Order: sequence, then C-alpha cells, then structure tokens
Amino acid sequence: MLEGRVALVTGAGKGIGRAIAMELAAQGARVVVNYNGSEEKALETVRLIEEAGGEAWAVKCDVSDFDSCGELAKKVTEKYGGLDILVNNAGITRDGLIMRMSEEDYDKVLDTNLKGAFNTIRHFSPGFLKRRSGKIINISSVSGVLGNAGQANYSASKAGLIGLTKSVARELASRGICVNAVAPGFIETDMTKSMSDKAREAVIDSIPMRRTGTVEDIARTVAFLSDAASDYITGQVLCVDGGMAI
Ligand code: NAP
Repeated sequence: MLEGRVALVTGAGKGIGRAIAMELAAQGARVVVNYNGSEEKALETVRLIEEAGGEAWAVKCDVSDFDSCGELAKKVTEKYGGLDILVNNAGITRDGLIMRMSEEDYDKVLDTNLKGAFNTIRHFSPGFLKRRSGKIINISSVSGVLGNAGQANYSASKAGLIGLTKSVARELASRGICVNAVAPGFIETDMTKSMSDKAREAVIDSIPMRRTGTVEDIARTVAFLSDAASDYITGQVLCVDGGMAI
C-alpha cells in the first residue's frame, strides 16, 4: 500500500495516466495529476479520485519544456515537501512511414515522449537523492521493444526511454531509488481508437492472449513498481502486452 506517499503521474487526464493516478490514489498515495492541454479532463480525474475518498491535485505542465518541469518540481516540493513516485506517462503519436515523416513530427514525438521523461527525472532526482528513496516508472511501449512499421519516431522515443531507464537505474541504485519501465502492448484508449477494424484484427492476431489490454492492466503493474513489494527490482522493462513481445 502507498499511504503517506506522494506520486506524480504525467498526462493523467485520461487513458492509461488516469487509470494509474486512480490506482495509486486507491492505494493511499496523494496524487499530482499532470496535464498539458486538457484541464477539464484532469479536473475530472481529480474528482473521480476525491469521490473515491482519495487526494489529488491537478497541475498544468508541458513535459517537453525543461523549465516548466523545473517549476513543476518546485510547486510539488512546496506543497508536499517532496515526491516519492514519479510516473512518466505523457506521450503522443505522429505516425507515418519514414519516407514521408516530417522533421517536425519526429521532433515533436521525441520531445514529448523521451525528453519529457528526462526533464522530469532531471528536476525531481535531487529530491529523491536527498531522501535516499524513490520510485521512477517510465511508460515505454512494445513498439520500443520490437519496433513498428509506421512508428519510427514513436518506437525510437520508446526504445530511448528504455535506455534512459537502465542508465538512470544504474546511477541511482546505490541511493535506494528504483527506476523501471513498463512496456504496454495494445491498450484500448484514445491513442488506439482511430485504428480501422481491419488493422485492429491484425493486431489482435499478433497477441498470444488474443485480446487487447485494459488501462487497469497497466495501472496495477505501475502500482506494484511503486510499492515496497518491488524494492529489489530496478532497471527492468516489464512488458504488459498479452505476450506480444515474447
Ligand atoms: P492518451 O489517451 O492519448 O493520453 C495521453 C496523455 O498524455 C494525455 O493525458 C495528454 O494530456 C498527455 N500529454 C501529451 N503531451 C503532453 C505534454 N507535452 N505534457 C504533458 N502531458 C502531455 O494515451 P494513452 O494511450 O493513455 O497513453 C499513455 C502512455 O502509454 C503514452 O506514453 C503512450 O505512448 C503509452 N502507451 C500506450 C499504448 C496504448 O496502446 N494505448 C501502448 C503502449 C504505450 P493533454 O491532453 O493534457 O496534453
């Protein structure tokens, strides 16, 4: 259980981020619900947590902006005295074949998905080091493990997150800080809902368990990696994908 802990979940207004925020709050953590564009959705996440008896606070921050992440760290530290759990969940896609992918679409995805995680880790790590404890969980993807046609930018960002996870895990392990990645497979959210039925069927055919995942499948895994039950686990990539990456 996570009583007394403070957690930050980036991009927690909807989808996987909202489910993670709700699960951590249900286990007793006070949760900072980060959003960038979707204030109403973030406030809805806060309301859902409060209705369930938990505590949450919505804070705007564009994770791709280094200085804004510094301000976020300052605000969180001022309000709660520090952070125990950092979940880098914010992410976007700008899919396209490599021959047609624009520089802007490449940069935008890398800036949000990969640099965003660097930005928060960079600003929150001094606090973790001072407390000699902490859990950092980066939401990667099966696309970062296997690659995926039409997602060169996204796969590069998610594979980069794995390298970032392993390197930071090595740097912070001796100070009691665990850094792990979760690599979801195909999860039903806004990110995946625009897919055609044909493409969806093809994906399901490639999943050994023959079903898509739920946001709760990911949230429960993140809760485990946030808890003392996983204190001897660091630098790992947990694929939560129905067997896609076997
Ligand atoms: P989603 O429903 O599209 O939600 C993405 C979230 O990221 C939104 O809440 C969005 O908030 C936030 N976000 C985007 N840019 C941001 C920025 N610059 N700063 C702060 N927040 C930002 O996507 P999802 O499916 O829940 O995905 C969540 C994570 O899981 C992503 O990292 C994604 O790559 C990963 N993932 C998803 C799947 C899947 O099948 N769905 C599979 C593997 C990995 P705003 O609207 O406020 O900007």
